[in-house]
Amino acid sequence: MLIVLDFGHGGRDPGAVGSGLQEKDVVLTLGLQVLSFLEEYEVRVIPTRTGDVYVSLEERAELANKNGADFFCSLHVNAGGGSGFESFIHPDAPQKTRMIAAALHREVAAFYIQRGFPDRGLKRADLAVLRKTNMPAVLLENFFIDSPRDAACLADKACLRELARAIAGGMARVLGLKKRSSGDAAGEIERLRERGLIIGNHDPDAAVTWGELAAVLNRLLDRLEKEGGGTTGG
Ligand SMILES: [Zn+2]
Repeated sequence: MLIVLDFGHGGRDPGAVGSGLQEKDVVLTLGLQVLSFLEEYEVRVIPTRTGDVYVSLEERAELANKNGADFFCSLHVNAGGGSGFESFIHPDAPQKTRMIAAALHREVAAFYIQRGFPDRGLKRADLAVLRKTNMPAVLLENFFIDSPRDAACLADKACLRELARAIAGGMARVLGLKKRSSGDAAGEIERLRERGLIIGNHDPDAAVTWGELAAVLNRLLDRLEKEGGGTTGG
């Protein structure tokens, strides 16, 4: 199972601006928290950006398509004089997407309803990342940046963290993700393999040579250096 998590906007594109906040920063903070909650599950997640960089809508969709993602979730913050939560799917979305989106919407909306914010519903729009992705894709509009009451949560790390937990937990339930068991040596090896840091399968009890260790560390360092350039991981 592979999820591409799309953090809207970035770099020269701030997205919506209000209440002293920029959408690109809020969705990055929120998204990285969603990513960290998803670490608890047996799933591979690729973010479309990990820093404040500009990524085109085409590149976001292409990242998901070329990696054969099973699910695409785009995180945004709303603006324009409303409050609460709404989500979007493409008008031509197939039934599988409609079902996943409806279930995820209910899960995330519960977070808002519990705190007295309106659930504005699951809507349809011909948005580029929804149109150009080949897999079930949803876009979540979290709060309104120009509503002072909404912005208070967006500016509050603890509140954002609870929202991230609701989004990650919702995705896990809707997509049927299994919890990672700690102390699962074979699972840890499999994770390294999925991440491309080791090649092939390894016996958890086998000894590691210096040559193998050096190869793994160099792959890791190559990747870190590449990410230091500011582009996406994966
Ligand atoms: Zn946006």
